[in-house]
Amino acid sequence: MNILILGGGGREHALAWAAKQNPKCDKLIVAPGNAGIAAIAECAALDVEDGAAVVAFVEENAIDFVIIGPEAPLAAGVADALREAGVSCFGPSKAAARLEASKGFTKEICDAAGAPTAGYARFDEAAAAKAYIEAQGAPIVVKADGLAAGKGVIVAMDVETALAAIDDMFGGEFGSAGAEVVIEEFMEGEEASYFILCDGETALPIGTAQDHKRVFEGDEGPNTGGMGAYSPAPVLSDAIAERAMQEIILPTLAEMKTRGTPYQGVLYAGFMIKDGQARLVEYNCRFGDPECQVLMMRLGAQALDLLLAAAEGRLAGVQVNWAEDHAMTVVMAAEGYPGAYAKGTEIRGLDSLPETAQQICFHAGTKADGGRVLANGGRVLNLTARGATLQEARDRAYALAEGIDWPEGFLRRDIGWRVLGKD
Ligand code: ATP
Repeated sequence: MNILILGGGGREHALAWAAKQNPKCDKLIVAPGNAGIAAIAECAALDVEDGAAVVAFVEENAIDFVIIGPEAPLAAGVADALREAGVSCFGPSKAAARLEASKGFTKEICDAAGAPTAGYARFDEAAAAKAYIEAQGAPIVVKADGLAAGKGVIVAMDVETALAAIDDMFGGEFGSAGAEVVIEEFMEGEEASYFILCDGETALPIGTAQDHKRVFEGDEGPNTGGMGAYSPAPVLSDAIAERAMQEIILPTLAEMKTRGTPYQGVLYAGFMIKDGQARLVEYNCRFGDPECQVLMMRLGAQALDLLLAAAEGRLAGVQVNWAEDHAMTVVMAAEGYPGAYAKGTEIRGLDSLPETAQQICFHAGTKADGGRVLANGGRVLNLTARGATLQEARDRAYALAEGIDWPEGFLRRDIGWRVLGKD
């Protein structure tokens, strides 16, 4: 079968790596891809948010199955365009992707589904929002309704910060994403993510993970797209996950179906866990990055079968073959990230790194330049490994760093500290 993956980050390298190991995969094209993906697949230039262009590309290249990596093409309706053209595709419709694209919509679904989440109110003008904040007090959380690349959420520890966030949002700082805001109760606890494949009818959990959002060790400094992740997340125990499935995930999926917008793809649920109970923080309608890398490392070739089953409505009765293992990804980023950073610095040593079912360096923001690999983004490499224990996975992931010669890059040395301690 000929497969097209949309996207060009570490998440898509991991998806491509898993698909490539499956004998069902004949031709593999990734658009736009990156230098690491180019070693295992054809990379193509394509406007991945333009449904008509993606459909035309699929027809020209005799593609049988499309996997959509990032949220932007989903929110733009690329999955709808593909399905209308009769192309098998992994990823939710534009209507179902609102679970990520509108925080207010997610709250509405939680209300209808009775799913535990933070108390909230929605506003489309500043005065009423400010009055609500004054009445509620701090800490309180202010969110732009729409997609804002992880920057549209202000966790305000005092009222002044929350009021300033309202001014920013209605002042246009987040464009149309901030035309409406959701103000939420602050939830305490530990965060973890749960990944569930859905085919519109059946839900199949494919693992838990935790990530490290802050740029510096000890989870200090500004937020990033994620500096590392591991799976499983011990805080999301089987018992808590099963309860969350019954109280949050299944009622959400049932509500989506009732509304005529069944969810098909991966549902990535972010939970806040406290006292043995999960409450929903957010839904994403695609795999997390770098969480996808640890999940693909653990699933391997069967990932393609699972994604195909989700796309084709065949998840009922499907089993995941789990090894009792652990995986970790450590992100190497360009010095300065998440602020200003240089592009085009050379990364040496990648060719001699081990690449096995236990250990691989996925590429995120890289670009091939003749025989050289250049950094081409903020988050650049994803050192990924698995092991019988999280410690073993971590040791193998960090061992990969030893072989990389990239003076302009940096990584956090403490990924996994919540589980392994701060040594
Ligand atoms: P991203 O896509 O980067 O994960 P996002 O923009 O979709 O983020 P959320 O996940 O809703 O936004 O919030 C970002 C972070 O803010 C959460 O991971 C969590 O740490 C914190 N947060 C969000 N809502 C709450 C809440 N009600 N109480 C406490 N913390 C919260």
